Amino acid sequence: MRMYDIIRHKRDRMALTPEEIRFFVQGYAAGEIPDYQASALLMAVFLNGMNDDETVAMTSEMLHSGQVLDWSDLEQVKVDKHSTGGVGDKTSLILAPIAAAAGVAVPMISGRGLGHTGGTLDKLESIPGFQVQLEADKFRRVLTTTGLVLAGQTGEIAPADKKLYALRDVTATVESIPLICSSILSKKLAEGIDALVLDVKMGSGAFMKRQQDAQALARALVSIGQRAGKRVVALLTDMEQPLGTHVGNSLEVMESVEVLQGKKEGDLAELSFELAAHMLVLGRVAEDLAAARRRVHELVNKGAAFRKLQEVVAAQGGDARALEDFTRLPNARRQQALVAPRRGYVQRVDAEGVGVAAMCLGAGRATVDDEIDPAVGVVLHAKVGAAVEQGSALATIYYNDPARLEEARQRLEAAFELADEAPPPRRLISQVIE
Ligand code: URA
Repeated sequence: MRMYDIIRHKRDRMALTPEEIRFFVQGYAAGEIPDYQASALLMAVFLNGMNDDETVAMTSEMLHSGQVLDWSDLEQVKVDKHSTGGVGDKTSLILAPIAAAAGVAVPMISGRGLGHTGGTLDKLESIPGFQVQLEADKFRRVLTTTGLVLAGQTGEIAPADKKLYALRDVTATVESIPLICSSILSKKLAEGIDALVLDVKMGSGAFMKRQQDAQALARALVSIGQRAGKRVVALLTDMEQPLGTHVGNSLEVMESVEVLQGKKEGDLAELSFELAAHMLVLGRVAEDLAAARRRVHELVNKGAAFRKLQEVVAAQGGDARALEDFTRLPNARRQQALVAPRRGYVQRVDAEGVGVAAMCLGAGRATVDDEIDPAVGVVLHAKVGAAVEQGSALATIYYNDPARLEEARQRLEAAFELADEAPPPRRLISQVIE
């Protein structure tokens, strides 16, 4: 087999055989296929697509390029959630302890933030002492004792994806549904899960800006995941404005705690609880969605979900007291309010704009090597639909470095749009695909 022929087949819109896909993925992971040939094939896939059979084969090859975790000795059903990423999206910190408290096992492997979107690992690491890089036996111990583990990807999980994703990033081939599907699913399936809940975001802060693209991605992820033998459901959710009110690492931990303690309502609580309810159904600890929703509320109201978060934080070396005493979390030294320039209704809070503002303060990374500041970020006081008076607070900026304030402030100001009329209500969850 020659790589030249595989590229030619895809260039000429032919479906690749499983053997051709194996040759490519294994050869590239082993360093036997040069970047220029891999890039040519990726671009041919980007332009001409892949059918479901090819995408299944691609997923399987990437999955088996590394270690696949095995939890067959664990009684519970293993379920995870994956979000395509957004601004203020801290649902993992809320739904994972809820699902674990309900009796589902959650071996959650997360990533770091890049650009305007945040990453679960960075949020968790803002808790003093919290360890995300766990050796295999520690990972197992935490999962078996708490029912939950919140860790970073090791080099052994889908290494072919790591290499291919880096190449896609520099060859303008990221936004391809079969490539995204195989990339996401290979990493998630390597966790050894039985079922997966997907939160596919759409809107300005999301990877997929348009509803039809998000819908197509969600359908493909569900279909390929199911063909891989997993129970999969996808929720299509709004990312036009940030989720919740806090954007920035330790700020997001604080907001998650408030939701888990049942002290805060709103879009973040609504979405986290709904995703958790789907995890309970797929995890077979609730008969249907209605029963799952009741159970989620019970676990939150009785404090069991919050205790589970404290338990896993302690098990991973973190200071669990920081979850009740926020002065033990990183706190920014300075604050500045952003006020409404006029009376009106909030028409828009552009998610990407808020995410970039937080990144300018140091909450996120412009490039993978950037250091982040866990304390800084933005807290929104008015979201879409809110009525505001001239001079009332729209947001508070939490910052440490005064040199970073001005750009962040300008970006945040530009993210808010006020109008005379209230905007039509937005749907947080527009579709469930299963
Ligand atoms: N996230 C991933 O992990 N892979 C993609 O291809 C896109 C987003």
